[in-house]
Amino acid sequence: MAELVLNPRFRGFICTSAHPAGCAANVAAQVAVAKASPGAPLKNVLVVGSSAGYGLASLITAVFGHGAHALGVCFDRNASGDRSGSAGWYNLAAVHAQAKAAGKKVETINGDGFSTAIKEQVVAALKARFAPVDLMVYSLAAPQRTDPAGVVHKSVLKPIGAAYTAKTVNLDTNEVGPITIQGANDAEIAATVKVMGGEDWAMWIDALRAAGLLAPGFRTVAYSYIGPQITHAIYRAGTIGRAKDHLEATAHQLDAGLKAIGGNAWVSVNKALVTQASSAIPVVPLYISLLYKVMKQAGSHEGTIEQIVRLFRDHIGPGKTPKVDSAGRIRIDDREMDAPVQAAVAKLWEQVSTENLATISDFAGFRREFRGLYGYELDGIDYAKAVELDQPLV
Ligand code: NAD
Repeated sequence: MAELVLNPRFRGFICTSAHPAGCAANVAAQVAVAKASPGAPLKNVLVVGSSAGYGLASLITAVFGHGAHALGVCFDRNASGDRSGSAGWYNLAAVHAQAKAAGKKVETINGDGFSTAIKEQVVAALKARFAPVDLMVYSLAAPQRTDPAGVVHKSVLKPIGAAYTAKTVNLDTNEVGPITIQGANDAEIAATVKVMGGEDWAMWIDALRAAGLLAPGFRTVAYSYIGPQITHAIYRAGTIGRAKDHLEATAHQLDAGLKAIGGNAWVSVNKALVTQASSAIPVVPLYISLLYKVMKQAGSHEGTIEQIVRLFRDHIGPGKTPKVDSAGRIRIDDREMDAPVQAAVAKLWEQVSTENLATISDFAGFRREFRGLYGYELDGIDYAKAVELDQPLV
């Protein structure tokens, strides 16, 4: 038990603490959006990567929008002494509390989702307390993976081929300047595919199938990104893009394998949004700042919860048939990729500099959301007040 006044220290895309009350406020806002858009009931849902970003929004949508019993898997930590817990932990503490108050069942298994041990724990929990799974969301984003053979793979965010130079914003100094990133070698490409490709997703599905936990008509979805020309070299044509190619190919293989039970596997291509994972990619925060400016002006901006509520409502929810592109992908990035939006962002991209960052981009919005991920700079929170850091998952 430790009650403390928290003073955040941000370094680049990392914050040394998270604020439990702020994280709870973020969750409450997402729960309200999910509740306002109720959908057809789901029975049992498994979310891997459930504590933040798109996975958290998926958990909240399943439970509060579709009445599901849900089991989540994350890699987080509660407070220890005077050290705060992680934002993901506090997010889930709030989800658990809200679910309990609403009489809904949510459980969390905290540990390395890439490991066989955690898969076994999940299978045991599903067998003991949940019926077969209707929907499994794979939303894990991690910098490294230890595979079942014990080999550690480290992902890199690099272009492939020639070195790449582009504008980026320094999150410590708020300065816009060029960054040059050397091209990845073959080993780095392969390692990134091992971490962020589809191999682990397929292992999860195999584990569920072997345990007889796939309900008839079982559905699974993983999240991908394509993005604009501006980020093409570092994202879709880069190492992470290779991993996404693998993830998308895995969806096709899984889909074929699920036919026998009337099931499906899809990739959903989502919009660029502020999350811990996306903030770590060079160039992307500056692109997001410009994108937010344009999409907010156009009235087409969505956050993670709006994106996922729409994904469930229009595509993957019970009884829905997804609309897919020519490569079989669901495209909830449609509003981001809208031609007039992209044309406006491309024009601003040419102009953006340290001097005009505050006026022509929504960098202020990016920063607020980024700090908000850790529970800071939110309205209605008294940051001068001590908060209890130890937040059990009830
Ligand atoms: P995030 O950083 O917000 O969340 C990642 C989640 O993975 C967290 O719940 C974390 O606890 C969990 N996790 C990390 N390592 C783990 C491990 N070893 N075991 C178990 N859980 C682990 O990430 P995000 O941005 O929401 O990304 C989720 C997916 O969505 C990724 O595939 C990402 O590429 C994709 N996506 C993100 C964006 C974006 O702009 N953020 C856009 C399109 C697609």
